[in-house]
Amino acid sequence: MIDLRQADSGTRFEADIAIIGGGAAGIAMAHRLISSGLQVIIVESGGETLEPATQDLYAGTASGVPYFPLDQSRYRLFGGSTYRRGSRSAPFQHVDMEPRAWLGLDGWPILRDSLQPWYDGVPALMDLHTPFDHSHVPWNRFRVHPPAIDTSQLDFTGFQFGKNLLFGEIFRKDLRAASNVLTLLHANVTKIATSERADHVTALQVRTLEGKTAEVHARKYVLAAGGIENARLLLLSDDRNPAGLCNDHDQVGRHFMEHPTASVGTIASDAPQATHDIFSPGLLAGRLVEVCLQPSVTLMRHERILNANAATRLNLGQDATEALRQIVWNMRSRKVPMSLGWYRNNAWLRERVGTILRNPFAIPGNLIRHAMGRPKRFAIDSVRLEVRIEQLPNPDCRVTLGAGRDAFGQRRAHLDWRLTETDWRTFRAMADRVGAELARLGLGRLSRAPWLDGPATAGPETAGLNRVWPDDLVGGHHHMGTTRMSADPAKGVVDRNLKSHAKDNLWDLGSSVYPTSSQVNPTMTVLALALRRAEHLKEL
Ligand SMILES: Cc1cc2nc3c(=O)[nH]c(=O)nc-3n(C[C@H](O)[C@H](O)[C@H](O)COP(=O)(O)OP(=O)(O)OC[C@H]3O[C@@H](n4cnc5c(N)ncnc54)[C@H](O)[C@@H]3O)c2cc1C
Repeated sequence: MIDLRQADSGTRFEADIAIIGGGAAGIAMAHRLISSGLQVIIVESGGETLEPATQDLYAGTASGVPYFPLDQSRYRLFGGSTYRRGSRSAPFQHVDMEPRAWLGLDGWPILRDSLQPWYDGVPALMDLHTPFDHSHVPWNRFRVHPPAIDTSQLDFTGFQFGKNLLFGEIFRKDLRAASNVLTLLHANVTKIATSERADHVTALQVRTLEGKTAEVHARKYVLAAGGIENARLLLLSDDRNPAGLCNDHDQVGRHFMEHPTASVGTIASDAPQATHDIFSPGLLAGRLVEVCLQPSVTLMRHERILNANAATRLNLGQDATEALRQIVWNMRSRKVPMSLGWYRNNAWLRERVGTILRNPFAIPGNLIRHAMGRPKRFAIDSVRLEVRIEQLPNPDCRVTLGAGRDAFGQRRAHLDWRLTETDWRTFRAMADRVGAELARLGLGRLSRAPWLDGPATAGPETAGLNRVWPDDLVGGHHHMGTTRMSADPAKGVVDRNLKSHAKDNLWDLGSSVYPTSSQVNPTMTVLALALRRAEHLKEL
């Protein structure tokens, strides 16, 4: 690894493959290429820890449906957004990638089955338990009896939380030891330079925040800077075309997708813990497993809705285990400064310690349950039903260049997050169907949240603002779709091999290439695509 701040200004680096971004995708690809003997350079903006000045390069603006501040939804350091990632994982399902006439979706230009060998390589990267069939929850491993749901309408789907969180820390040693991989830290790619005819990338222009410059030359270039920044870097590279790189058809930045998530109501139940145990059945070989209900393909087609998932969420009262969890999580996330004075004066912490002291015996009980892989017991105030949906690809939901400028004088990202009537209909159908099923099975009665009964106001389908969305509507920090894959250059930025339609030596990696977003978290598929591309690039 080289810290570019220590190198001579104007240094020229050469490689076979240059990867822009040392996050989940870039690291997975470089790791896979260690055995290839090809010379690989990872050009990474950040250092090995989070630094405010570098993180500030990720700040931007947003409009439309309220979204997270952009610099609190992605992380700019070696390891990328795995710095705060939850590691909740599942692969895309067949329906996610197939054409869906009821939504007017063409499907992915690659088949779901062709991804399977690459998905098989992901558990080793994320430290997931295998075998684990996400479509068949291993109920026999938990002390939970699954209710007999009507499978013509709904299916159970399982998620596993991997143990490998911080990719920067986990893979640093292997990458350092590899003689054919060089990581440049504090190396910000500010422009992707191209040949005069603009069909070939010729170099990466790199700068440090302290003013040093460098150039990286390679035979092949891989853009792996994250779901928003991939688009921003292409738009900023406007030397040959004011519309930016690979943007002849005005596709770069469009079709941004998230996983909109909101509470759709409260569940009244005589046995709330038993109902919640179905969705949170415990641990499998030390990995947390979460279960959700999703619409069957029949239901999706009948209701003309997207994929989605629903699970219970607890509103807890004074719960000692939760108070302890929050303290540990905050310390792990490095949000709590390690100073005794801070602890003494901190009301947030005092409140949680007070909750623990009021019922300290709940914690050993839950620790034992945790060690046995069983679901924990909580002081439950109420139970909510939370729905997370796949977002309909919408060209008007997009990343553009905003008015503000970063420390390099470059325009910051602007996100216009717009949801559609189809998104709203999916939330509503899930609330109705899951609510009816919970009632039929005697698991509880759902009081539907008022926002699902609100009228539509006038406005075009894609404007996203023709519904009153609830205050608790959030995304999942999943940034998808901005350099989407399509066989047709007029409808996408990269082809089925993730190669730019417009350049002969530029590939995109990450969830920006997704034509649709599924209801599952994105990283497992990001990694599967990175492994697939690494093998492909070895052969070229
Ligand atoms: C709070 C949070 C929770 C999450 N939870 C989950 C979860 O439970 N499950 C899941 O599947 N996903 C989760 N994600 C999403 C997950 O982190 C991303 O899918 C994944 O990190 C994407 O990998 P990537 O390599 O495309 O982008 P990143 O990991 O973000 O890496 C991009 C890299 O590019 C670098 N970079 C950017 N611009 C430049 C530039 N100009 N020059 C050089 N380098 C640059 C950045 O510094 C960064 O290292 C979560 C994300 C967040 C923020």
